Amino acid sequence: MSFNSLGLSDALLKAISKKGYTSPSPIQQKAIPPILEGKDVLASAQTGTGKTAAFTLPILQLLSQGKHLSQRPVRALILTPTRELAAQIFVNIKEYSTYLDLSSTVIFGGVNQKPQVAQLRQGIDVLVATPGRLIDLQNQGLISLAKVEILVLDEADRMLDMGFVRDIERIIKVLPAKRQNLMFSATFSKDIKKLAMGILHHPVHVEATPENTTVDAITQIIYPVAKEKKTELIIKLITEGNWKQILVFTRTKQGANKLTESMISAGIKAAAIHGNKGQGARTKALAGFKDGSLTALVATDIAARGLDIPLLPHVVNFELPNIPEDYVHRIGRTGRAGANGEAISLFSPDETVFLRDIEKLVGLNLPKENIKGFEPDPNASKEPIKQGQGRQQRDSTPRKPKTDTTNRSSNNSFGPRRPSQNNDRRSNR
Ligand code: AMP
Repeated sequence: MSFNSLGLSDALLKAISKKGYTSPSPIQQKAIPPILEGKDVLASAQTGTGKTAAFTLPILQLLSQGKHLSQRPVRALILTPTRELAAQIFVNIKEYSTYLDLSSTVIFGGVNQKPQVAQLRQGIDVLVATPGRLIDLQNQGLISLAKVEILVLDEADRMLDMGFVRDIERIIKVLPAKRQNLMFSATFSKDIKKLAMGILHHPVHVEATPENTTVDAITQIIYPVAKEKKTELIIKLITEGNWKQILVFTRTKQGANKLTESMISAGIKAAAIHGNKGQGARTKALAGFKDGSLTALVATDIAARGLDIPLLPHVVNFELPNIPEDYVHRIGRTGRAGANGEAISLFSPDETVFLRDIEKLVGLNLPKENIKGFEPDPNASKEPIKQGQGRQQRDSTPRKPKTDTTNRSSNNSFGPRRPSQNNDRRSNR
């Protein structure tokens, strides 16, 4: 299928071609037509599938066809859980709207509000926002949402996880009742379905992949390792493998800082990215990672959401996530946009419960490989880490454990894939 056949305008096709996209991804093929028809859409898709273009392209088309109001009030509102994701969506919108007479901006917390307010005053057609800053500006009377025609909730599951449900409700109250609603989520728990039912009207359901699969283009491997040897092992993997760009996940901010310091001491150019870092430090770390001046970016789950790092070859779970869905989100950072990637997990005996939950969710018995000299003591305790080391110190508001195993994660299929051990899910059970 070509972008032409989706009914997008010449101005958008030109911008798409400038980006180098040759054909629409599955989620784009499925979501763009109903959005262009003005329908509400509930989409199952995670970062890496091309979901941003799946909603921004048709929105830009609808807005450019609509009547321009003289004051340029906000006509499309895109809510996202994190600053990084908001910033990335905004960058995409700027690119896709190059040949359109539409203005857009992004607002999020952690930075001075003045430039954002100045932008808003000039009149904005498309606003990308995180809920907190949006409510803040709304309360100060600095923004009106009375003319919003299209609302997008992106990464809705993560917004609920981060405790934004009240904020979303407050925002929806000030929007016009008649509007088009689009909701994107990687997973579908009972809470997400409830939220969707309250917001969407007769939505068209679209999804990129079957249930609970992890991305086929990703090779997944588990290295069982003694807990106290994890740092030594990751440094060995990076230096001996001569890895150039590696995203590393830890469960906690403290863990991210500690590991980063050890890496730097071992001569690896590394930076940590988490909720305690200011926006400037986060942006700088991400830029350094993208331009190759940093080898390793050590991140917590929340900080890493929405990071768009094309062609990331390696993702390492330094610690397994205690929320199994986070595993799917994490490894979705590699093997993106048709590229292949490797997701490595350093697994210590105290994480046995986490690994069991992950394997249950993804429906795979993940391959395990011992590395000589790093094997864990077979008698080591399999008891999970104590409270305070895990969920309580996460990089966000504590979340409820999810019990709904109907969660979906989406696939990443822009192009051909090489065979991987996950292509036949049953063979790994
Ligand atoms: P997203 O899932 O929106 O975060 O997009 C993931 C990556 O895929 C981004 O780098 C996009 O620029 C890229 N992308 C989006 N749509 C396409 C497409 N149709 N073909 C190739 N790459 C794409």
